[in-house]
Amino acid sequence: MTTQLLELNEAQTAIYNRSNLRRAIKDFDDTEITGITLRDNLVVVVRTDGSQQTYPREIIVTAYQEFTQRLKHFFSYLGPNYRGPSIWHNNGYVLFKGWTYGHALGHITANAKLQTSWADKFIHINDQTKLEALLQSEHTDLGYLIAPEGFRYMQSIELGSALNDSTGDDTESHVENNQPKEYAPYCSCGSFKRQLNNLADFQREIPGYKPTCIHMTWLHKYRALLSERSRVRTELPGGAAVKCVAWAYAPPEDHISKGRFVLLHTNSGSMAPISHWRTYKSNEVFTEEHAWDLFFNMLEAGYVPFPLTSLPQLSSALKKK
Ligand SMILES: [Zn+2]
Repeated sequence: MTTQLLELNEAQTAIYNRSNLRRAIKDFDDTEITGITLRDNLVVVVRTDGSQQTYPREIIVTAYQEFTQRLKHFFSYLGPNYRGPSIWHNNGYVLFKGWTYGHALGHITANAKLQTSWADKFIHINDQTKLEALLQSEHTDLGYLIAPEGFRYMQSIELGSALNDSTGDDTESHVENNQPKEYAPYCSCGSFKRQLNNLADFQREIPGYKPTCIHMTWLHKYRALLSERSRVRTELPGGAAVKCVAWAYAPPEDHISKGRFVLLHTNSGSMAPISHWRTYKSNEVFTEEHAWDLFFNMLEAGYVPFPLTSLPQLSSALKKK
């Protein structure tokens, strides 16, 4: 039997490829493949010996979506000094690549140093193309431009044209104006742009598909953490946190190990001397992989997290040790 190998389009290539087959199918053999094609609801893998295996499209789609939306650890997109995304123009943000936290010497890499010198200056670059070129050139690789709610000027252009229409006695456009505005999230990363540029093809594979990426997932989680933190803080009498957590992170020493994530907690306020703080679960080892869950668990228990480096009485006491 011969199979006519159909050329997959951009979207299909992004979804039905070796990597996602590997992710979806246990013990998938990714050697000696001459082609991957589609037949009805099946993905067909053709081998050099002419043999074929088929897999349901659905499970590869799931693997693709899970991978594209996976949540990276807390430190993945923080700039130097645990800096969160920087506000840019029109509802856009600069998301830093976590150069400082990938390795114990990460903070002295050229990339991290460049992030420090640029962090407050992105706002002076008004042109989106120039900003993206600065962020994502092979020499800089500082981070991404991201707009989870879409850019404001794009919305105002839409609004502007809607207003123009309405002057022409068009009742339909009035109806449109009452609809909730459909916003178009944006990320400057390659994965997101690929989805955006081939959106119709992606939507043919996955009905109702909306572009997304690991940066979008991370930013949503980060915002949820910030709003949870301010909720816990505002519920406190006088706004002063009594139950506090000081957290510290030591990036890995090599490329195999994980970093160390340490939490101290107190019921005596963030200014409490070091003798009032206890290590949280001192016999357990936490890494960057635990950070999100620990932060949310602590907040749920009413503890407000602070970076240890922002509490001078703790950072100086620990330095002396
Ligand atoms: Zn992205």
